Amino acid sequence: MNKSEKIWMNGELIDWNDAKIHILSHVIHYGSSTFEGIRCYETAKGPAILFLDAHIKRLYDSSKIYRIEIPYSMQELKDAVLDTIRVNGHKSCYIRPLVYRGQGALGVNPHLAAIEVAIATWEWGTYLGEDVLETGVDVRVSSWNRLAPNTLPTWAKAGGNYLNSQLIKMEAIMDNYAEGIGLDINGYVSEGSGENIFVVRDGIIYTPMSGQSVLAGLTRQAVIHIAKELGYEIRETSIPREALYIADEVFLTGTAAEITPVRSIDKYPIGNEMRGPVTETLQSHYLKIVQTGEDPYNWLTFI
Ligand code: PMP
Repeated sequence: MNKSEKIWMNGELIDWNDAKIHILSHVIHYGSSTFEGIRCYETAKGPAILFLDAHIKRLYDSSKIYRIEIPYSMQELKDAVLDTIRVNGHKSCYIRPLVYRGQGALGVNPHLAAIEVAIATWEWGTYLGEDVLETGVDVRVSSWNRLAPNTLPTWAKAGGNYLNSQLIKMEAIMDNYAEGIGLDINGYVSEGSGENIFVVRDGIIYTPMSGQSVLAGLTRQAVIHIAKELGYEIRETSIPREALYIADEVFLTGTAAEITPVRSIDKYPIGNEMRGPVTETLQSHYLKIVQTGEDPYNWLTFI
């Protein structure tokens, strides 16, 4: 991991090595945190954060679901993100705001623990490996299902949800796949351990509905927006597992993964086993915004 100089913790910028919490913090025992993953890009017009407002809004939404009252306003947290990037002197970076239940009594009851907030930034490259934005990744369908409605809420980006993601990711890595695709409890396609998924067939783009078993991803939302603007038909619907194997193209989306083509699933070749034309079109529109800083949709916040 590329260490930066400072981390913002509870209102102060402190040294990276001093950003510590107590072993009896509630979050460590019960997964009681909410967080975001945000990217700051080095655009031709200077460093800019992608979807800052939407990420901070999602952090508040995730926290509200868990009855966590963040002791800062949204504007204060946005300013804190900007301060942290500036003090660390990043041109581009990954940004991790984290809200967690800290010290207090150590029963399950979370209301007795203090609510704390931290923002870390560090430099980070391609998430699923070098060159994969062009060549694509090999993935498998996981033997683990994603979260079910009314169990762990998937619209909350909460620490505890990522235990399921870890099972999916470890299983994939151990079998030499870049990522695992979780199905929902009814056997329909859900998402990767940290990415939403899109399937292209006969020119139509499909993605699982948000609000059933997938995180309401911001990259997913951006891709839907761009695709509609380019005139593609896009359907948010249930996708059976076998639709993956006979797809013309499949790609994964996420802040970290950006738009990553999938070249094989369970060793079935997808399309021509390389980035397909629809994936390439959407990817180039997305990457153009963050590379040039030309921002027709107002998605960027310049540092
Ligand atoms: N699903 C999961 C489980 C994730 O962790 C992520 C990454 N935040 C995504 C989807 C993609 O969301 P976003 O595009 O907002 O990064």
